[in-house]
Amino acid sequence: MYTHPVIEIFGPTIQGEGALAGQKSHFIRFGGCDYRCTWCDSLYAVNPHTVKETAQRLTAVQIEQKVVELGGGDTPWVTLTGGNPCIHQLGDLVDLLLKGGHDINVETQGSLAPEWLERCQLVTVSPKPPSSGMQVDLDDLNRCLATASRAILKIPVFGVVDLQWAKLLHQDKRFKDYPLYLTVGTESGGSLLSISDQILHRYDWLVSQVLGDPTFGNVNILPQLHVLLWGHKRGV
Ligand code: SF4
Repeated sequence: MYTHPVIEIFGPTIQGEGALAGQKSHFIRFGGCDYRCTWCDSLYAVNPHTVKETAQRLTAVQIEQKVVELGGGDTPWVTLTGGNPCIHQLGDLVDLLLKGGHDINVETQGSLAPEWLERCQLVTVSPKPPSSGMQVDLDDLNRCLATASRAILKIPVFGVVDLQWAKLLHQDKRFKDYPLYLTVGTESGGSLLSISDQILHRYDWLVSQVLGDPTFGNVNILPQLHVLLWGHKRGV
């Protein structure tokens, strides 16, 4: 029986960012990622040693059962996240979740384009800006977005250089028609109060920068609601 490396399944909770911000959802987090972003807030799902030690190998049926046990039978949205869920062959799970009446949102950085993305209701593609230390391949990004039947771009912004990069991407003819969501980037660590202060301060800055720049056309600017509420706590 084919199994998938699952780090955690949790919910119901709210989706904290992007097109579904505020939406009640369950989350399935898979282990493994082809990136190593400097500010990654889910390294426990990225570091190969940690993933090997902690990931549970579960079949699609076991994963779907767990979601239902958590109350997911009454909550349609399920988010597949990581790590990068696109490094896995999740077609069997996607088909099972769809059969069970779920709506699927996938969170990925856009480096890969597995065929099963096409069957998901939404693909939230989050290319990583320069502050991540990663180099985005725009052809790969384009392929991932084109594979999805509905996709949005969600870019975390940690400062001026990231914002400039997001603007260039937004102006690129390959990407300009995708809805653009800018998210306030936050570093891990610190008390909830200091994290909230940092988020609101950066949100204020980001909003003023974007509103003052007419080249940003149709854009949505949001803080990470879950981080504002719970900091970087896991499983919420
Ligand atoms: S792509 Fe996402 S999960 Fe992977 S290292 Fe970067 S922030 Fe972490």
